[in-house]
Amino acid sequence: MKKKTKVIHGGITGDDRTGAVSVPVYQVSTYKQQKAGQHSGYEYSRTGNPTRAALETMIAELEGGHSGFAFGSGMAAITAVMLLFDRGDHILFTDDVYGGTYRLASKVLQRIGIEATFVDTSDPEKVEAAIQPNTKAIFIETPTNPLLKITDLQRVSQISVQNHLLFIVDNTFYTPYFQNPIQLGADLVLHSATKYIGGHSDVVGGLVVAANKELGEKLHFIQNSTGGILGPQDSWLLLRGIKTLGLRMEAHEKNAEKIAAYLIDHPQVKQVYYPGLATHTGHELAKTQSSGFGGMISFEIDEEKVDSFLSKLTFFVVAESLGAVESLISVPSRMTHASIPIERRLELGITEGLIRISAGIEDSSDLLEDLDQAFKAIG
Ligand SMILES: *Cc1c(COP(=O)(O)O)cnc(C)c1O
Repeated sequence: MKKKTKVIHGGITGDDRTGAVSVPVYQVSTYKQQKAGQHSGYEYSRTGNPTRAALETMIAELEGGHSGFAFGSGMAAITAVMLLFDRGDHILFTDDVYGGTYRLASKVLQRIGIEATFVDTSDPEKVEAAIQPNTKAIFIETPTNPLLKITDLQRVSQISVQNHLLFIVDNTFYTPYFQNPIQLGADLVLHSATKYIGGHSDVVGGLVVAANKELGEKLHFIQNSTGGILGPQDSWLLLRGIKTLGLRMEAHEKNAEKIAAYLIDHPQVKQVYYPGLATHTGHELAKTQSSGFGGMISFEIDEEKVDSFLSKLTFFVVAESLGAVESLISVPSRMTHASIPIERRLELGITEGLIRISAGIEDSSDLLEDLDQAFKAIG
């Protein structure tokens, strides 16, 4: 089955009892048992819910993994994965990892004795050099946020195997439509489903896919024990979003390519980061491990002009988040990455003049005209 078919016909489709074509919202907490202790597979909705199960089956199939798990947010999903580790363990993270993941690692996990080191995972030698005797996992994002650096999935997978580490990939930016890390050796893939998977700026959710049964069982145990599950209504909304994932990702990418091409030629733009540009450092690698370059672009302008530029735009909503049908624009240093100390931000290249665009699916000519009039207005 091709991906565009799988998003429609994969997982659990419809409802056998009524013939309903869409999986119903099972808005229910408990289930009648035939006899005490004998149930139909569902006993209590924290443990399992049919609408959530349909979503979990779908994401597992899309990522080519063993089993899927849905959580109340991307951060709840990442936290559940982190609970696979123990006090004294050490985890390597991509250096410009999502700000919330950085905060979790540096402010929460550290407090309970799980250590973290942040390295530029786009350089495999740096990854190898950062491994300690107590390292248990490598957690990466590719592309990264907001600089869109690309990490070699197969190479990091080899390093993980050689050192007996779990290889965890946050696949939020490319989604299973463009990139399948499990096929390249990842053990766990996770998503902020709030972004492209949902796609409409109306749900907060997180997903995890385990590559094998053993990890799947451990994660189900953690999900059921800690309880950060996604509710049935939001699970249904994500299932609905997934049906158009293929169409949306292609539309996001087309618009992003046009915006990147426009920005790179613009005299007021100092730097453009988009993996689809032949000049991007990770371009060749991205071509070998993903089937698209995605809808995220970052670029740099004069920092004094950032506010007036944003205020002139009509179709780019100034907002956190990404991956929605409407184009969104943000200033990482003041928004998504504000929790990262300034010295670290500058080290990473997240300057005050850096702007991030999440290309929506509007008509590209409206988006380009909008950017153009805003640049003209700030002269
Ligand atoms: C947004 C995001 C998260 C966190 O997800 P929430 O749904 O906001 O909790 C994690 N990783 C990446 C790459 C993200 O963009």
